[in-house]
This record gives sequence, C-alpha cells and structure tokens, in this order.
Amino acid sequence: MPGCPEAGGFRAPKSRSTLNQYWWFCLEHVRAYNSAWDYYKGMSAGEIEAHTRSDTGWQRPTWPLGRLGVQAFDEAMLRDPLHILSAGRMRRGTAAPKTTVPPDLRDPMQALGLDWPVSMDVLKARYKELAKRHHPDANGGDRASEERLKTINLAYAAVRQHLTAEPRMAATG
Ligand SMILES: [Zn+2]
Repeated sequence: MPGCPEAGGFRAPKSRSTLNQYWWFCLEHVRAYNSAWDYYKGMSAGEIEAHTRSDTGWQRPTWPLGRLGVQAFDEAMLRDPLHILSAGRMRRGTAAPKTTVPPDLRDPMQALGLDWPVSMDVLKARYKELAKRHHPDANGGDRASEERLKTINLAYAAVRQHLTAEPRMAATG
C-alpha cells in the first residue's frame, strides 16, 4: 500500500480476472483490502446468476443423463424408488426378462409384503387389505399411517403398471 512502511508479507489477488496475480500487503492492509473485496463487482444481476449456476458444476459443461447416447450406469445397481428407469424402458419397449423380480419393483414388492412373481388378483387383494389397515381414518389421522399409505399407493401403482404392460407375467411361476 503506497506510503505504508510495514513489510508486505500477505498476498491478495489483484482482480477477478487475475486471481493468480497478487498484491502484497502488511497484515493490517491485507485485511482492509480483503474486507473491501467484491468478487462480483461490476457484474450485472444476470451475470452473477449465470456465474453462480456455473459454479455449481465446477464451471464445466453439464447435460441431462443419457443425452450422449451412452449407458452411463448399470440400472441393476441403482435404487429407483420413483421408477423413472422402468418408465423409460416401457416407452422403448425393451423390458428385461422377468424370471426374477425387476430391480425397480424390489422396493414396491417389499412395501406390499409380496413375493415375485405376483398375479393381478393377489396384488389387488393385498393392496385392499393394506389400504384399509393403514388408512388415516382407521388410525385417528396418524401421520405415520398416512406416509405408509402413500408408500403403499406408489408401490401398488408401480406393480400394477408393470403387470398391465406385460400380461404374460402374471402366469409365471
Ligand atoms: Zn500496510
């Protein structure tokens, strides 16, 4: 700092665009410099927003999964409680063989307490039983029951959709 007699033992970047170049200050002056430092100085609100978003991806390009046409992960290794992957497979019409419970139905089947394979009749009967047992009205409006019922509803919808899409499966086993 001009006029300062102290030794400059503390560095601070010269500017946003030259973060690897430094001014050297004494302790007192580097503190003053740092407290007045504004990385976003001179940027518009839009530029700051864009910069912040870019930072969340380490300022590297990003794109949605699968956009590059590459299978980036092993579906069997993924937990997919919302059945996003199975929905994608159904659209493409390439469902996997069904000798074992499909990975995306493991959690739903467990939530329903059923074993794979299952027929639509057994599924419906089990769902009715669980829905009745966990209905909030039957449990004094209990929150936990309500959550459990939501899980059961989702699980039922997932398995039912699966059986509807592939009717042959109901006869297996
Ligand atoms: Zn100084």
